Amino acid sequence: MSLWRNGVLAVANRPAVERLVRRYGMRLARRFIAGETLEEALAAVHRLEEDGIHAILDVLGEMVTGEAMARAFAEEIKKTVRAFAGLPYPRYVSVKLTQLGLDTARELAEELLKEILEVARTGDVFIRIDMEDSPRVDKTLAVYRAMREAGFENVGIVLQAYLKRSEADLEALLPYRPSVRVVKGAYAEPPEVAYPDLATIRAKFKALVEKNLLAGNPTAIATHDDVLIRWAKDWTKAREIPRNLYEFQFLFGVRPALQKKTAREGYTTRAYVPFGTAWYPYFSRRIAERPENALFVLRGLLKR
Ligand SMILES: Cc1cc2nc3c(=O)[nH]c(=O)nc-3n(C[C@H](O)[C@H](O)[C@H](O)COP(=O)(O)OP(=O)(O)OC[C@H]3O[C@@H](n4cnc5c(N)ncnc54)[C@H](O)[C@@H]3O)c2cc1C
Repeated sequence: MSLWRNGVLAVANRPAVERLVRRYGMRLARRFIAGETLEEALAAVHRLEEDGIHAILDVLGEMVTGEAMARAFAEEIKKTVRAFAGLPYPRYVSVKLTQLGLDTARELAEELLKEILEVARTGDVFIRIDMEDSPRVDKTLAVYRAMREAGFENVGIVLQAYLKRSEADLEALLPYRPSVRVVKGAYAEPPEVAYPDLATIRAKFKALVEKNLLAGNPTAIATHDDVLIRWAKDWTKAREIPRNLYEFQFLFGVRPALQKKTAREGYTTRAYVPFGTAWYPYFSRRIAERPENALFVLRGLLKR
């Protein structure tokens, strides 16, 4: 699986492929993103709520290199937070630190995230810091800790089960009583840092969920994997973990029937709703996850 993912992501990184997909792919990308505008994203929020699914809004954008662009993205995110705060639903926004200039200067990302957290606190919006590729994990965790030390409670972190370091990272975070989203991990990573096989990744995923929940901390179980979802339902029941301590999270457009079923069963269910014009890297990762998704895109491009 990791061979497939690394291969697809390597191809996707070629400028010619990006040009081709960006030119013809928006219609195809719409399967995984809510649209290019905030209005389209808010319309998606309303539709999801009709099925009992709460939204996590995400302004697409990452790996920003200049300060001006990072500041522009921060303004977009604050605008999104303010708009979301006006809706009568649970409110939740995800951000990527490289979108806020992490690669330019950690201080810049911290400054901009603080501004976002202030606006979010006023509007009762929760902010999740997404986790990016392994060279950025240390800095991302440091920014998370800095925000908690600055007194922000409305912020959470993500840990990736495929990274060999994640169990130790969780251990070190426990004093912060962290809200953690557990995911498998979506980037092309070398075998020195990441487990390549599904069985180990599933076992590590379970270990992270168990550890954070047994410590009494809010935990988001973010996967479309039936094996892990079944396990999580059974394990939380057997351990009498209160339902308000954990939730299931999914990606917009992936297994919508499963999302509705989970909400109908009474579990807190959220869908990650990305929107914006910078959809290419996000789209590439979705394609890299499943051969079926790549075939769907190839068929779409060939039809043109
Ligand atoms: C809410 C959310 C937030 C995320 N945030 C991050 C993050 O911050 N950082 C990060 O690195 N990654 C993040 N991810 C991505 C994550 O790391 C995985 O890459 C992604 O979720 C795919 O792994 P999976 O466990 O969902 O399913 P997979 O391992 O891809 O698939 C498991 C099984 O699910 C089923 N399945 C999957 N997709 C479909 C489909 N389209 N149709 C039918 N069946 C399907 C199949 O049965 C498959 O065998 C996030 C994921 C979610 C859901």
